[in-house]
Amino acid sequence: MVKCPKCGTEVVTPVKTWVIPSRKASKRGEERKLVMGIFECSDCKARFRAAVTAETRAEETASVKNMVERIKGIKGELMQTLKNLRGKIKTLETERANLMIEIEKLKKMAESKASALEGEVSMLREEVKSLRDLLGYAEEQEK
Ligand SMILES: [Zn+2]
Repeated sequence: MVKCPKCGTEVVTPVKTWVIPSRKASKRGEERKLVMGIFECSDCKARFRAAVTAETRAEETASVKNMVERIKGIKGELMQTLKNLRGKIKTLETERANLMIEIEKLKKMAESKASALEGEVSMLREEVKSLRDLLGYAEEQEK
């Protein structure tokens, strides 16, 4: 964490970082590197260079870890939603299939009713015709 030289606001994560090999550190026989970073103040938007401290890097790692955890959580939620939706779709598909069967049944019922009525109507026609014949109506009087 570094402070903005203009307003003193604390800036946690750098915008950009790069590594500088440190001569002092190499004397001790350790491969130590100095990390520099460009920071942007969230308050006054001033950009400035500062050494990235171990603390800053740890915070950065922590924030990345948090993000990974959050992404995992979101992924889990999405998987759950997907699972629920799949279940819903399956139920709806079953319902649709049942409705199609029902419609088919009703159609058949309507068809058989129609054909029964047709039969009845033709029977009645025959009856009317025979009655006319009985009463002596001429065929011409019919339309
Ligand atoms: Zn500032």
